[in-house]
Amino acid sequence: MRILLIRPKPDRETIGLQHLMICEPLDLEYLGSVALDMGHTPILVDMILEGRGLGYFLRKHSPRIVAVTGYITHVHIVKSYCRIAKQILPDCVTMVGGVHAEVIPEDFRDARVDVIVRDCALETFRHVIRAVDGGRSSERVPGVWCPDEKAGSSAYKPPPEDLLPARQLTAHYRNRYYYLFHRPCALLKTAFGCPHTCSFCYCRAITRGTYIERSLEGVMTELASIAEDDVYIVDDNFLVSRKRVQAFCEQLAKHGIRKKYLVYGRADFIAAHPDVIETFAGVGLRAVIVGLESCKQDELDAYGKRSTVQDNEEAVRVLARYGVDCYATIMIPATWTNRDFRELGCWLRRLDLAYINLQPLTPLPGTGVCEATDAMLIPRDDYAKWDLAHVVVKLEHISVARFYMNILWLYYRVLLRPSQTRKHLARYGYWQNVRMSVAVMRISLQYIRKAVCAMWRRQ
Ligand code: SF4
Repeated sequence: MRILLIRPKPDRETIGLQHLMICEPLDLEYLGSVALDMGHTPILVDMILEGRGLGYFLRKHSPRIVAVTGYITHVHIVKSYCRIAKQILPDCVTMVGGVHAEVIPEDFRDARVDVIVRDCALETFRHVIRAVDGGRSSERVPGVWCPDEKAGSSAYKPPPEDLLPARQLTAHYRNRYYYLFHRPCALLKTAFGCPHTCSFCYCRAITRGTYIERSLEGVMTELASIAEDDVYIVDDNFLVSRKRVQAFCEQLAKHGIRKKYLVYGRADFIAAHPDVIETFAGVGLRAVIVGLESCKQDELDAYGKRSTVQDNEEAVRVLARYGVDCYATIMIPATWTNRDFRELGCWLRRLDLAYINLQPLTPLPGTGVCEATDAMLIPRDDYAKWDLAHVVVKLEHISVARFYMNILWLYYRVLLRPSQTRKHLARYGYWQNVRMSVAVMRISLQYIRKAVCAMWRRQ
């Protein structure tokens, strides 16, 4: 049985991080592995990279199952793919999964969507394949969402230890997967969830607040099978415990694995464990994505971050000391004034950060941040704009146009400094920098367009 696994292309409205990164669809590669294990034929189509429309792949492969994954921003696109699949192949079974389907499955309700996976994705996928192959209905198989049932009712289950993602399914795309200057770049997952409890965090909603680690032996086996030199470890938080990170570094040395790593980590861990960062940098750590979130203590407290502004500042210093890039993310609440933006700019320049990601604080469904409906600027079903870049909540002090222009101005003020440009050129060369400049221009144009539209609507 042929099974088409589809990664959707973002909507034109979505402000595009895809200009700065396109990562391998690890979740679909895991599904592909399950299908192969059962003796079926998975075909993985990455619509971000494909020039041809979905119809071409449906006609070419005539799959029995069409499975699509996506985030909240993809809801309309995922449904439209299922509609196209049903038009071209009326007998196929359409299946929707991914992090948003697991948290808010009802958003994918549509006459053309046969199966919505609400939890235990891999096991559920196995059950659905069995049902379809046996000519049975897949409606009531465990893990499939029924309208009369609550989402996320059972405990989170990670992939089995011995199941590795079927990376061969993306062999023809692999040299086009990248993250900023990490090119080509593979993805690896070594743990699921996070033991911390930040109120805005979506990751915790997906794993129902649990944190589960894979065995490091299994991780090493997988790492050794990855061809790319750059590996983006997509654990929600890789820097959880000194013991595990040190053991990871020892295992790398023991297995003779030499790669470059990009991980997520908390500022308080980095600030408190400079020796661990030094050791990790010695075996390949190149960059850490750190949720600094704010330069104000009251905001960190309100987010339940349980770290301090001093931790943030110390973390940036520790990473710089060991030659590790800090990719800092900052959240901007709806209460901010122009002055807050100016203060943040001074703080970021003082820390000499070269990479920042500024995100309007977004009350993603399923997290601890909620807003009353009348406080929303963008309705929940305008999914493509829930991209952590659009302003979705009504602002208290400044216009939306001004907010977007402040963000853009801050990016340029922090990133476009001669010292940073020299550093990037020395480290990554001319062409990587040209490529990155084009990406930044494209995102800037999106922001300018948003600001002009907001002005036009007098928002
Ligand atoms: S530390 Fe990071 S991953 Fe963990 S709960 Fe906070 S934001 Fe989420």
